[in-house]
Amino acid sequence: MFFIAGVYPKREGLDYYEPIMCSCCGKYGRYEAFVEYNVLSLFFIPIFKFGKKFYARTTCCNSLYLIKNKEKGIMMERGEGHNVFLKDKDIVLLQKGSICLNEKCPYCGIDIEGNFNYCPGCGKPLDK
Ligand SMILES: [Zn+2]
Ligand SMILES: [Zn+2]
Repeated sequence: MFFIAGVYPKREGLDYYEPIMCSCCGKYGRYEAFVEYNVLSLFFIPIFKFGKKFYARTTCCNSLYLIKNKEKGIMMERGEGHNVFLKDKDIVLLQKGSICLNEKCPYCGIDIEGNFNYCPGCGKPLDK
């Protein structure tokens, strides 16, 4: 008799599309949530799921957040995502979107692309 057991990672999209004002790029966007977990399978039949982690990604700039409030993630999984609102304390920024890596002026908040000693928007000196 042979015995096949395996563990494989799985990702599923969740029913959650909250419109947001993105704190990363400052545009209007949405969170798209998904869950990742590992599945233990026996004879290719999934037996149980473990190591569940919930994530949210912004559609505006592709920033990735971990949803540390698992209860909210579980609600999304049950299809109750329309009742869930993610607050700042529920999520942790894992990775900023590429367009957010440009610096912002600490005085006037405009995006600064390139290397300036003075802000092209407000003219204040920038320390680099
Ligand atoms: Zn954004
Ligand atoms: Zn400025």
